[in-house]
Amino acid sequence: MDVDVAVVGAGQAGLAAGYHLRRTGLDFVLLDDQPQPGGAWQHYWDSLRLFSPAAHSPLPGWWMPEQPGAEFPTARHVVDYLSAYEQRYQLPIYRPVRVATVHERGPRLELTTDQGLWRTRAVISATGTWSHPHVPRYPGGDTYQGRQLHTVHYRSGHEFEGQRVVIVGGGNSAAQILAEVSQYAETLWVARREPRFMPDDIDGRVLFDVATRSMATRAQGMDDTVDVSRLGDIVMVPSVRAARSRGVLKAHPMFEALTSTGVVWGQGREQWACDAVIWCTGFRPALGHLAGMDLFDVSGHIPTTGTRAHHDPRVHLLGYGDWTGRASSTIIGAGRTAKAAVRELAERVGPPRYP
Ligand code: FAD
Repeated sequence: MDVDVAVVGAGQAGLAAGYHLRRTGLDFVLLDDQPQPGGAWQHYWDSLRLFSPAAHSPLPGWWMPEQPGAEFPTARHVVDYLSAYEQRYQLPIYRPVRVATVHERGPRLELTTDQGLWRTRAVISATGTWSHPHVPRYPGGDTYQGRQLHTVHYRSGHEFEGQRVVIVGGGNSAAQILAEVSQYAETLWVARREPRFMPDDIDGRVLFDVATRSMATRAQGMDDTVDVSRLGDIVMVPSVRAARSRGVLKAHPMFEALTSTGVVWGQGREQWACDAVIWCTGFRPALGHLAGMDLFDVSGHIPTTGTRAHHDPRVHLLGYGDWTGRASSTIIGAGRTAKAAVRELAERVGPPRYP
């Protein structure tokens, strides 16, 4: 099938792109490999909530409704919002369609998928990171007999009732999972660096307001001196504050290796036996479908200006983190960067074929 623009991925970033594409009159599709709407939000653990109230997390055009009785909406509520959003704007989403490769074919780009071939004049890649979990390699990782899982496989603390559990990582996922698991299990939290906690009164509201002000500053051509990351990494949501009160929010240095029964430091002199290791060690952008294009630098990164790939201006990247636009992996940030990307692409792709 031939279209002007193909968006790969229909999570929040893809939907924001769809909203703006709809307004250009260009012919476009969104291809998403999940059977259901919601992107990564449909896979988060049961108790996860947004860092901020609904009013601080809108996609373009339509505010997220409040969740009755919940100041901070659940992941399920976000999934419902994204589902309703794609229907409201009648976005042309095909799912499940997995894009395996994108190749240059003269003036066109060709997408091979498990549902056939698509030809297009431009691609917006919005595939997120959830499908590409990162687990660092440590000596003994293959010999450990207990359970190892990554954040993506974690559902709830109940599963670890009565066990001894190591939680690895210094970010929000680790702190929140620790807070929950420690109510059911004996936990040990380890991180490569001392975790940096935000002040208690900083939540998603403040972070998004600061990000908004700094974007406005930059839009006026002024230097942006606000650096939100200086405030810390871990947002003190109620469950994390409660874990601190219980005295479990204490990180230990990263272990050196795993053995068949646990983790060790000091070349094996110190050992902590455990039933499970939960790796809350982050994600990498899911960019495998672009591997056949000449977009990557030697470090495996795709250099961009804004969202546009340096080596092929027909390819834009949305939602992977700050390198494709300020806060572009948050719901509100996705909308802002999508607008800029679509504006640029619309100029490049030219007048719509079906005006
Ligand atoms: P995704 O939601 O992952 O969507 C990408 C879609 O593309 C998926 O459906 C995926 O299956 C599909 N896909 C991938 N590869 C292919 C392919 N080759 N072909 C076709 N389809 C493909 N953000 C906030 O704004 N507020 C918060 O409070 C907040 N809390 C968070 C808490 C946690 C623990 C985490 C991990 C993230 C949180 N975020 C929050 C960030 C936000 O949820 C994610 O960054 C966001 O879901 C990313 O959206 P996306 O559209 O870029 O990617």
